Amino acid sequence: MKLLKLFLVVFLQIYAATSSLATPSVVIVGAGPAGIAAATRLLESNYKNILILEAENRIGGRINSVFFGEAYIDLGAEWCHGKRDNIVYELVKDFNILRHTEISSTVYHSSKKNVDEEFGKELIQIMESIYVPDGHRDEVEGKSVGQYCIEKYNSTIYEKYQKYPEKLELAKSSTDLFHHIVLSSEGAFSWFEPSAKSDYKDCEGDLNLNWNGLGYKTALEVLMKKFPDPSKRLPLTVLFNKEVVKVLWNDSAEVVCSDKTSFEADHVIFTPSIGVLKQNHERIFSPPLPLSKKKAIRQIGFGAVMKVAMHFNNRWWSKTNFTGFHFIWSEDDKAIVSKEFPEGPLKEGRSWLTELFSIIPVEHNPNVLIGWLTGDMIPQIELMANETLVDGIEFLLNKFVGHKYNITKPDAIIRTFWYSNPHFRGTYSYQTVEARKNNVTAEMELSKPLLNLEGRPIVLFAGEASHPYFYSTVHGAIETGYREADRIINLYK
Ligand SMILES: Cc1cc2nc3c(=O)[nH]c(=O)nc-3n(C[C@H](O)[C@H](O)[C@H](O)COP(=O)(O)OP(=O)(O)OC[C@H]3O[C@@H](n4cnc5c(N)ncnc54)[C@H](O)[C@@H]3O)c2cc1C
Repeated sequence: MKLLKLFLVVFLQIYAATSSLATPSVVIVGAGPAGIAAATRLLESNYKNILILEAENRIGGRINSVFFGEAYIDLGAEWCHGKRDNIVYELVKDFNILRHTEISSTVYHSSKKNVDEEFGKELIQIMESIYVPDGHRDEVEGKSVGQYCIEKYNSTIYEKYQKYPEKLELAKSSTDLFHHIVLSSEGAFSWFEPSAKSDYKDCEGDLNLNWNGLGYKTALEVLMKKFPDPSKRLPLTVLFNKEVVKVLWNDSAEVVCSDKTSFEADHVIFTPSIGVLKQNHERIFSPPLPLSKKKAIRQIGFGAVMKVAMHFNNRWWSKTNFTGFHFIWSEDDKAIVSKEFPEGPLKEGRSWLTELFSIIPVEHNPNVLIGWLTGDMIPQIELMANETLVDGIEFLLNKFVGHKYNITKPDAIIRTFWYSNPHFRGTYSYQTVEARKNNVTAEMELSKPLLNLEGRPIVLFAGEASHPYFYSTVHGAIETGYREADRIINLYK
């Protein structure tokens, strides 16, 4: 009888262990592209016990498509960058949604006003030929993007325009515009922070495919099988307003939220941004992260860009062939603008207005313009009141293009707060000069899971910043979600 009892106990223990292994529970922190990709992969592999905890009250993370004017606009990710080996393109290519975006804004000068259109285009082409995000520049290891671009730009413009002093002067004044354009791609606060040589890879093909007025959210809808046929949507369980504040882990994990609810799981896939990790990893993980991962988190670069979407009842700009404005400041105008428009933040004498470098149109939205701001004043600009922001943009438009158009105030605006929002703390990651000194890249280090004593992955890391070469993008984020879901799936095969 005793033997039978012992046998039964052992049998029950083995059964409990194997049955929990057969249906492991997975908590995914974050419902951005990485989290949604991980969840859909697990669900499609018949894993039923999947829960997503999301701190915001919506799905999407740094994809945030909102209906504004006559179509969706994107406050976060906006373009599908390239086709070949791009998982986003692969997901949606059969639905005929993506369209080419014409990005060729006309350049205006703060005092000269119109810049000869051909010359303006030439300057932008010079910038685009020097700065390509794809970072395989063998000769420049150890240099920042800023050093690299300034050297190349200066030598090009001196060579090209030394006999044309006026053009040379304009080209020199355009260095700031170049800086801001580069920052819109790198997401840094200064171009002296990202490394010129990097592991980032462009996907071949059109780098600026837009969503034809449907918004980048469509990619997530396709992932969740909600698009094109909503009746086929996958049964995702997402709990909103669940801000994870603790991940306690050993042989399994307990995830605690700020509202004191807690969830147990065999595995946790953690997807919040590198900004959230920088700010909170010490408080969140117990036991703490290994030193190598802490170092990676410290070294991965993360800044912010800002967009301001403006709707105008009366379209005051050209009805046809309008591609947007780029702004070049003369040194004199830059020096006095803070006196002409004293409201809003200043840094070392620079007005916040000099961070607004471009205003562009948006597809299927004839009365909407989007202003782009980059640079180290974004944290303060995000704190400005709407009225000051709108007044400042109106002032700037009058200064640059008031001679040509009858500028009016927008009747509605939507602006971004990626830096101030504690669930993002920035926009997209980049490789710093410092991080490139390591043998293992910081992105690879970040992607390593936390293992228990038997070597089983308990806490796994996904998210754009953990992709070895598609970091900073949606396609990169989705691949990392798949990668970590597959890590779990392979464990139970
Ligand atoms: C302004 C802007 C423009 C961009 N443009 C492009 C573009 O054109 N093309 C492109 O490919 N990419 C672009 N990107 C980058 C792209 O959006 C990101 O790379 C991608 O969304 C990252 O996905 P993710 O899942 O890694 O992280 P996120 O999208 O940040 O998802 C993480 C989720 O975790 C949640 N979270 C955070 N903290 C917690 C917590 N404590 N508890 C629970 N949940 C939490 C967040 O709310 C978020 O929903 C842009 C980003 C921004 C901000």
